[in-house]
Amino acid sequence: MIPYSRQSVFQEDIDAVVDVLESNFLTQGPVVPEFEKAICEYTRAQFAVAVNSGTSALHIACLSLGLGKDDYLWTVPNTFVASANCGLYCGAQVDFVDIDAQSWNIDVEKLQEKLAIAAKSGKLPKILVVVHYAGLPADMQQIHDLSKEYGFAVIEDACHALGAFYQQEPIGRCVFSDLTVFSFHPLKSITSGEGGMAVTNDAQLAAQMKMLASHGITRDESLMEKSPDGPWYYQQLYLGYNYRMSDIHAALGLSQLKRLDNFVKKRRDVTERYNKELSKLPLQLPLSSNDRSSAHHLYPLRITTSADIQRKQLFIFLRENGIGVNVHYIPVHLQPFYRKMGFREGDFPVAEQFYQSAVSIPCYPTLTEQDQQFVIESLKQFFQ
Ligand SMILES: *Cc1c(COP(=O)(O)O)cnc(C)c1O
Repeated sequence: MIPYSRQSVFQEDIDAVVDVLESNFLTQGPVVPEFEKAICEYTRAQFAVAVNSGTSALHIACLSLGLGKDDYLWTVPNTFVASANCGLYCGAQVDFVDIDAQSWNIDVEKLQEKLAIAAKSGKLPKILVVVHYAGLPADMQQIHDLSKEYGFAVIEDACHALGAFYQQEPIGRCVFSDLTVFSFHPLKSITSGEGGMAVTNDAQLAAQMKMLASHGITRDESLMEKSPDGPWYYQQLYLGYNYRMSDIHAALGLSQLKRLDNFVKKRRDVTERYNKELSKLPLQLPLSSNDRSSAHHLYPLRITTSADIQRKQLFIFLRENGIGVNVHYIPVHLQPFYRKMGFREGDFPVAEQFYQSAVSIPCYPTLTEQDQQFVIESLKQFFQ
């Protein structure tokens, strides 16, 4: 089976992990801060907090921004459930903004309309989680302008987008957001096994997240509410969690980061070949844009004819041919858990239509030209 995605772990990654296993610290050692520093250098963000998953990073990002009961968090339905669940973890209410039919990212016009209505009813969001779907940056400039006009915070869910650029700046630079969150799950741009990171240019948010990721505890005297009893002293200031990344995971992530640009280039080559070879089929292919470059996390495509029947047929046909296709995403608001909050079919029609007609085909750095050619030929055969 040719998978839709897979990690690229090399001998140097394995060596880096073994080095940690043979060292004095498996966790809370020197490698986690090194990995954080390296991500700061790559993204040019000032602060980074490494955690055990992208989901944990979203959670502490929301908490550091003060999200709580009676607050609203908005995101898109065309994402993984974690982009929305982080709001619920904090006791807030979640709502969605539909996606744009071309970019499959948040539709800024719909956002603007929904904000105008929410302002009248006093239900403006405290946080907007912007997802860079499939690695393509969303319209951050316009979103930033709206965040200033309506006074909400912006978290970039960049779990697909480490290695992407917007207006020449790396995603994670936080030019148009308060915080950016990455995941190092094996299928993302780089992997640490499981893992995630939150980056920001705000020292206070960073300090807060650092504490929340480790039980709400600090050893920093300047943050304590009374002077320390002695050198052993620490204080718990908040109800935090154990969301720490281990040095074993950080070593893998740090080693992988050295090849990030190469990984993205390989994914871009794959993408460009598909764009060229599939252009004559009845398919809508991923958008490319001049002012931003994608990390090419996925290669989703949409069937443009009699969608719902044919998509399932195509999916089954490709799977039967040994091609591990997938669908990204089942709209979050249609998950049974979210339906219980009152969401239903028709609420976000563009995301729903996209879901009905989308298939993600194999796209990853080590996909061979031969395997890719087989995927292309299979697609051509299906539409003959
Ligand atoms: C992978 C992913 C997450 C969650 O990351 P984990 O590291 O798996 O917790 C969140 N949002 C999006 C868009 C993702 O793709």
